[in-house]
Amino acid sequence: MKTDVERIETVKKGRPLKIPDLAALLVILAAAVLLPLAGLGQQAGAAVEITGTDGETRAYDLGTDARIELAGLTVVIEGGRAYVVGAACPDKLCEAHPSIGRSGESIVCLPQRIVIKIVGDGGQFIVSGA
Ligand SMILES: [Zn+2]
Repeated sequence: MKTDVERIETVKKGRPLKIPDLAALLVILAAAVLLPLAGLGQQAGAAVEITGTDGETRAYDLGTDARIELAGLTVVIEGGRAYVVGAACPDKLCEAHPSIGRSGESIVCLPQRIVIKIVGDGGQFIVSGA
């Protein structure tokens, strides 16, 4: 009858993969699974939420190029990014703001109380009132 130690030795020798090989394989597998996920997390947002002077919020598909004419400014959606043109506010900070395209980014026009915000990721959003 074999002792426990002998049994373990037998199991170790019988393994087709050595421990370092297995670890390397796991790292590669983990990278293959996690890297695309990490990439998705940083990808473009799904929609532009615009809160206008009337206080109402409307969502627009970030994947569809459009010009949204509001009272006071125009939001341009182009190539998955949004930016402001034709701002009627005195400081024009909103117009000077670089285009936004990632979830969580926003352009705010303080004088006109207009908020343009990128929301969602992975294409899950509801377009309303477009
Ligand atoms: Zn402005």
